[in-house]
Amino acid sequence: MNSFSAINRNLIIQQLNNASDKEPFDLLVIGGGITGAGIALDATARGLKVVLVEMQDFSAGTSSRSTKLIHGGLRYLKQLEFKLVAEVGKERKIIHQNAPHLAKPELMLLPIVKGGSLNKFSAKIAMRIYEWLANVKKEEKHQILSAQEVGVAEPLLTKENLLGGILFYEYKTNDSRLTIEIIKEAVGRGATALNYMKVVSFIYKNEIISGAKVKNEINGELFEIKAKYIVNAGGPWVDELDDLDKKAIEHKLHITKGVHLVVNQNKLAVKQSVYFDTLDKRMIFVIPHNRKTYIGTTDTFYNGELTNPKITEEDTNYLLKCVNAYFPLSKLTNEDIESGWAGLRPLVNKPGKGPSEISRKDELFISSSGLIIIAGGKLTGYRKMAERVVDLVAKSILKNEGKIVNGCSTDSIKLSGGKISGSLKFSEFLKTKIQEGINLGLSTNETEILIYRYGSEINEIYSLVEKQTKIEKNNLPAIISAQLIYAIEKEMCLTPTDFFIRRTGMLYFDIEAVKKTKSAVLLFMQNVFKWDTELQEKFSSELESAIENTKM
Ligand SMILES: Cc1cc2nc3c(=O)[nH]c(=O)nc-3n(C[C@H](O)[C@H](O)[C@H](O)COP(=O)(O)OP(=O)(O)OC[C@H]3O[C@@H](n4cnc5c(N)ncnc54)[C@H](O)[C@@H]3O)c2cc1C
Repeated sequence: MNSFSAINRNLIIQQLNNASDKEPFDLLVIGGGITGAGIALDATARGLKVVLVEMQDFSAGTSSRSTKLIHGGLRYLKQLEFKLVAEVGKERKIIHQNAPHLAKPELMLLPIVKGGSLNKFSAKIAMRIYEWLANVKKEEKHQILSAQEVGVAEPLLTKENLLGGILFYEYKTNDSRLTIEIIKEAVGRGATALNYMKVVSFIYKNEIISGAKVKNEINGELFEIKAKYIVNAGGPWVDELDDLDKKAIEHKLHITKGVHLVVNQNKLAVKQSVYFDTLDKRMIFVIPHNRKTYIGTTDTFYNGELTNPKITEEDTNYLLKCVNAYFPLSKLTNEDIESGWAGLRPLVNKPGKGPSEISRKDELFISSSGLIIIAGGKLTGYRKMAERVVDLVAKSILKNEGKIVNGCSTDSIKLSGGKISGSLKFSEFLKTKIQEGINLGLSTNETEILIYRYGSEINEIYSLVEKQTKIEKNNLPAIISAQLIYAIEKEMCLTPTDFFIRRTGMLYFDIEAVKKTKSAVLLFMQNVFKWDTELQEKFSSELESAIENTKM
């Protein structure tokens, strides 16, 4: 059943059960992060019958906890990964073309300082190589600035040791929304996708993997999904999932933790994003976003619990120290931190390397029982990773069944939210839709946030805002209830935490609004889903600990 409505969840599960019994799926994707999402869309677009299962919410793993940049790949130049720079540069353009609302060009300043990772000469050469490899648009080419020009571009920056700077473009995204839009697109094209559905064991036929036993994490029910091919896209859980396979190969991952902190924009009012050297020879970002500024990231080896990595005092002190050294006037303290998140990088193990030196490249493995494993990679390269996995499946289908599977077409698939009509440029679309939002009584800032959140789906949101404004009975501002209804009916949103983190990002970038509306959101969802007391308490305390986890 091609539905992505949480209201239809039980029906979808029932139909999945029946469908898998009659005829196995072509592909079972385990993991609803960006990697699994990309694979599900690619395979569905090639005509395969696909099911994706995610044990938490979609993108609740690493794919909602990144720096939220579609990189051009400049940092890979330092590791001499030229092929990777060229690939991510091309991918960035494709994401911008297919989901312009989720790839916003963002001016980035890289100060050049005495003893820093680049001098003016090496910066010039590095930028030229980078722009050539990444095929950067003419209008987005870098600019080299003098120390004085850097001072004008970013008055808050320390002048100490400053030699100059580079202005260049990165693209900002919303990682969890990108993941969800890709899954939504796959579902719209025929895939089945379910969150809160955990693979607990594998099923074998003649020693070859032929399905998985899954547990519905909402009600504890178990059932089986049969599939000809199974992909482990478990991100940081890749090794744990492999351990369920009796033919597992040795562990592949090296996990590092990265933390981001959010402060009000007036506490660190940067005029653009800044990417700067740290005292321990790393580089971190400060990025303005929706009237806040976020700072990140750390990079430390990690071997703790995978589901909810925590922000520690050490992480916080490190980031505050780095920022205060570069932006001395800001004098940021713990009290200024409004929110934050910690994420885990599922890197492919390379013994003897430091956290920041390990390659971000992805690697494909196949266990002797046939489990396909995809590890490593980046948000930015998700589409190419998916292409490699589905190419492998297509090759096996040709070999085993003599059937030709179409080639990859995702470079030209507009994602859900990216369907802006005709030749209309995103900037023109934005202008028109801002006006429509203002006509509905929303502020310019609110409409802009909504348009970047929902892209071409904004029309649906506006019509819900209009309806909700008339109803006004559920104690929620129309702008919130409209998004909540949309999230439940169109984006498989099952819990308040799904809504506040993965559907809207409010927990990170507008925590005050979360605190104000959380009870009404809980009540609204309780009325829709008719939770028993146990579930109601579970989801309520889950939200409270998510709020607590935004700080150390
Ligand atoms: C701090 C940080 C900053 C980053 N910044 C950037 C950036 O700016 N740009 C960029 O391109 N990349 C960035 N990355 C990298 C990028 O975020 C990751 O490479 C990417 O999100 C990994 O996606 P994934 O789908 O492989 O893993 P995940 O998103 O973790 O998805 C795996 C999913 O599998 C599910 N799962 C596991 N076991 C099971 C099971 N038994 N049954 C069902 N489901 C299961 C998990 O719940 C999880 O949701 C960053 C990473 C970090 C940590």
